[in-house]
Amino acid sequence: MILTVTLNPSMDSIYFTDTFVLGAMNRCSNPIKAVGGKGINAGRTAAILGGKVTTMGVLAGKNGELIRHELEQEPFKTKFISIFGESRNAVTVMDREKNQTEIVELGPEITADTEKIILDTILDFADEQNEGPIIALCGSANTKNDYLYQEYLLQLRDKLGTKVKILTDISGKQLKNVLNNSVKPYFIKPNIQEFSDLIDLPLTSKIDVINNLNHPMLKEVPFVLISCGGDGAVAKYHDQIFDVIIPTIDIINPTGSGDATVGGVAFALDQNFSIEETLRYAMACGMSNALEQAVGYVSIENVETLKNQIILKEIEQMFHV
Ligand code: ATP
Repeated sequence: MILTVTLNPSMDSIYFTDTFVLGAMNRCSNPIKAVGGKGINAGRTAAILGGKVTTMGVLAGKNGELIRHELEQEPFKTKFISIFGESRNAVTVMDREKNQTEIVELGPEITADTEKIILDTILDFADEQNEGPIIALCGSANTKNDYLYQEYLLQLRDKLGTKVKILTDISGKQLKNVLNNSVKPYFIKPNIQEFSDLIDLPLTSKIDVINNLNHPMLKEVPFVLISCGGDGAVAKYHDQIFDVIIPTIDIINPTGSGDATVGGVAFALDQNFSIEETLRYAMACGMSNALEQAVGYVSIENVETLKNQIILKEIEQMFHV
């Protein structure tokens, strides 16, 4: 059983225009609209692969109702909590040169009361399962509490023990605070830029990433996957390190590939697949998403084909992790 959590879903609109001029009237096509949210995308991916998925989070106002309605058509169960405010809009304007201008609202604030309701909903879900579920905490939240995810990790470990595997796909201060604490998530997936920001070093290649996998902040995180876009990924699984090599593909839209990667990992862990098979699923899902126009979608046929094209090169360790 998989639970994905999204604390700031959005209604995304993409407008296409020839040119975008700041300070002028810009005429656009009618927008393509879709629900956005990292946990929602990861949940959809895992569900398409055949996982039993519930997606939860918070929704607010009229936009929240619209999102709730859209989510009813999805291949997962939902458990969204209604809160005060208005779920956010995210607007992208794409010109013919493929320059993207984005306007992203803050979204409804997660107050202390809401924090508690979210935690209780996660705990209730875990209690209802016979086996420890996979719980994926994904994406940003509009909160003044930089320790929100750290506190969730502590509470979930305290109440559920190690029977649940907690995956996080978060960045910035929230990720730093999670990793600076004694209770670690089972899995993290920063991309190379997020890893660079995390350890405050300018990393530009997989070699740079491999050379920094002994960073103290990654210690005791059992499974670290640092995604590198079209360059594949680097993975640390306990004391094993893998250079994860992917073939070149003609991408259509790579946005959301990281979310699809997390969905692939959640599915594979839930199936108790080996680390090698898990990494193949992770990469194949990211790539499959990049082959779709839609964000956070995979095709099961593409995943099955692509996963056989992933090369895993185990790297000999030069240090203790
Ligand atoms: P997002 O934030 O848009 O969800 P991300 O930055 O978290 O993405 P990426 O590192 O861009 O994640 O991509 C995750 C995985 O998706 C990669 O490891 C790779 O398997 C696949 N992928 C992404 N971009 C490409 C690409 N251009 N070509 C092939 N595969 C890609």
